[in-house]
Amino acid sequence: MSRSVLVTGGNRGIGLAVANAFLAQGDRVAVTCRESPPPDGKLLAVRCDVTDSGQIDAAFDTAERAHGPVEVLVSNAGIIDDVLLLRMREEQFTRVVDTNLTGAYRVARRAARGMVRGGWGRIVLISSVAAVRGAPGQVNYAASKAGLGGLARAVARELGSRAITANVVLPGFIPTDINADLPEKVRQEALTQIPAGRYGRPEEVAAAVTFLASDAAGYITGALLPVDGGLGMGH
Ligand code: NDP
Repeated sequence: MSRSVLVTGGNRGIGLAVANAFLAQGDRVAVTCRESPPPDGKLLAVRCDVTDSGQIDAAFDTAERAHGPVEVLVSNAGIIDDVLLLRMREEQFTRVVDTNLTGAYRVARRAARGMVRGGWGRIVLISSVAAVRGAPGQVNYAASKAGLGGLARAVARELGSRAITANVVLPGFIPTDINADLPEKVRQEALTQIPAGRYGRPEEVAAAVTFLASDAAGYITGALLPVDGGLGMGH
């Protein structure tokens, strides 16, 4: 069955792969972007910064006019601002949390309205292996991504009886713009810690997301699903 899907930050990287995977299975897909729309005209691009509730409302309104109430929400928009704790300014901490965690709360709250009314919904939050493993320089990022687990599990308990699930996907190292500036030495070091012996592909994250959003995954809620080649194992 074709669903109305909204992916935040679906204009590039992992979000774009997720949006394209839904599109390929026949869903009606809206993606949010702040400036550059996605390259493919088949996705409905709506402007939205997830730190602004007004923009989120407007983006949902546009998507829902075109596609109907959002039935599948993928909260994917995220940023890093890496620096060691002793040098991390409070503004760097709060900005990352405001985007990655509070942003997810804002879009989940907006999406939940229609899902409750419709009696069905799927919420998938994109976290990170850093949520369970930690990473030097990522006190802000790891905290924001770990918070998504608690958020999803609280939503799962609140809305579980309405056929609404809330799950979290934890990608490992996926080469995209977000890590494009990492020095080669750091990349090679990361590689030695990945049991799969390679980086992941955005499409591999997308496969987990579309599964969690499927009818078949209706009995999976509050789950944390790693897509990391084993990098986070044991945490
Ligand atoms: P990219 O940098 O390629 O994409 C980030 C996306 O987030 C962009 O679409 C960007 O939109 C959007 N975004 C950032 N800030 C905001 C904001 N305030 N409001 C709206 N949209 C915003 O990175 P990835 O594709 O790699 O990352 C996607 C998600 O996956 C992130 O949450 C990231 O933390 C997570 N992740 C990535 C991993 C990786 O190795 N790549 C590993 C683990 C998790 P715009 O184009 O407007 O800037």
